[in-house]
Amino acid sequence: MKAICKETFLVEKCDDDGFTIPNKYKTIKEGTIWNVEEDSSRIIGGEIRLTKSTKKTFNWIEISKEHFEQNFKIIISHNFDCSVVKRRGCNYCLKGKKIPSTGEKRFYINEDKKEIQADDENISVETIKISYCPVCGREL
Ligand SMILES: [Zn+2]
Repeated sequence: MKAICKETFLVEKCDDDGFTIPNKYKTIKEGTIWNVEEDSSRIIGGEIRLTKSTKKTFNWIEISKEHFEQNFKIIISHNFDCSVVKRRGCNYCLKGKKIPSTGEKRFYINEDKKEIQADDENISVETIKISYCPVCGREL
């Protein structure tokens, strides 16, 4: 499972033995993506352990569940990749413009119902439940 940071925040820095380093803080930046560790090993006893590795460094933080819920959003669960966040929208999801398609049916998004609706000569023939705009990726 992965989570994206919704809002930049600071955590106290610790050494690898879990001792807090006085007056040192680590910045966790908005938009960074972290692995949510599912095993139970903890260094400083935090409820949620998050890790992130880059080519050069391995980062980890442990925070409370409440803190996690405030600052992170889970983006991959059950193998669906829902990593697109904070898009502003497009004419298809905001204004219900007809989505370009081949064939006779008219496809358009009904944002309130979170559906793609298909009409054939103004008779509704099909709906598809969606969570994200298929055109711009905005979360509905
Ligand atoms: Zn859109």
